[in-house]
Amino acid sequence: MGDTERLVKKAAKNLYRVLEDPEFWTPEFCRTFFDWYDVEAHENPNSALVRGQLALELAGKTGDIHTMAKGHGLMATAYRRDAIARAGGEIQAALKLAGSCPCCLSDIYRRLGGILLHQQNFVEAKDCLDKAIAAYRELGDEDGIGRTLVSRGVAWWKLGEIDAALSDERRALHLLVPPTPELFYLAALTNQAAFLATGEQRHFVQAEPFLSGVRGQLAGIRGITAVRIVLSWIHGLVLARLGDRQRALQMLRNTRSRLLRRRQDAEVVAITADISNLYCDTRKYRSIVDLVSDSLSRLGDVSGTRVLLKNVLAAAERELDETRRRLAEVRNAVAVSVPTLNTCPTLSSVVTP
Ligand SMILES: [Zn+2]
Repeated sequence: MGDTERLVKKAAKNLYRVLEDPEFWTPEFCRTFFDWYDVEAHENPNSALVRGQLALELAGKTGDIHTMAKGHGLMATAYRRDAIARAGGEIQAALKLAGSCPCCLSDIYRRLGGILLHQQNFVEAKDCLDKAIAAYRELGDEDGIGRTLVSRGVAWWKLGEIDAALSDERRALHLLVPPTPELFYLAALTNQAAFLATGEQRHFVQAEPFLSGVRGQLAGIRGITAVRIVLSWIHGLVLARLGDRQRALQMLRNTRSRLLRRRQDAEVVAITADISNLYCDTRKYRSIVDLVSDSLSRLGDVSGTRVLLKNVLAAAERELDETRRRLAEVRNAVAVSVPTLNTCPTLSSVVTP
């Protein structure tokens, strides 16, 4: 067993031990810990901030400038969901420590590109990710290039360039090999599924077989519930677009239950809108009222969507055509990792670790 591997096992038994025992205070262990963090933050988004703080504190213990710069970059990613101003502050702190070091700058640009994607600044995001790739290339860091391509594919897609987007994700698949966490590879697969699902007919015809293939490929892998949920959500939307309403509804409702159990509230709001849209197609307003009421009774005010959900309810109760517009308002108010279907791609969002 390698030394890092032994330390990872030790840290897993009690996470806070990493701040107490100097054995953990090395750049090598931090690199592994940061990777672990990225995977965990994706799987358990609700604990991302607390664990991000832990990673940053650990970075400080090493006294290594490069590790500390990357720690601030990681913390910026942790803040992107709920505290965007703080994310900016962390990027500034990271840049200050980085100076002109390409090993730090590549990492910071990659993180910043992901944050800009989250803020829907797609042109800036792509520029930033281009810079990250150039810096990684200078270092000969293929793993870094692969990780960045996963995000740049999303930027291309948002800019309406689906072929360029797919090409980035496919190139990423070749570069993302162990010990890179599997999550990045899975994100490249998930993104391709989303791009195909929302693309033109020539893309869309590949979506169903691609999704079935990926879900088969994942059958034996453990601990990737979040990825599996995203894929089944996209699959449900694809089935809906194919006209297989019954299977689509079943898959989406099932996905919604899993999201409820995991307390992924923003996602519950979004999928409630997606399912309601399907009901809208056949004017099943009663089902929309039931579903939206259920969401209102279980959730708090997620990103100010409570009033928007009530608007949906009011429109659906009176069986008004405006229900669909009200649903779009709900869907656009939450940032989630699954795109809306049958809408302009620039309104939606996709997975970026
Ligand atoms: Zn550096």
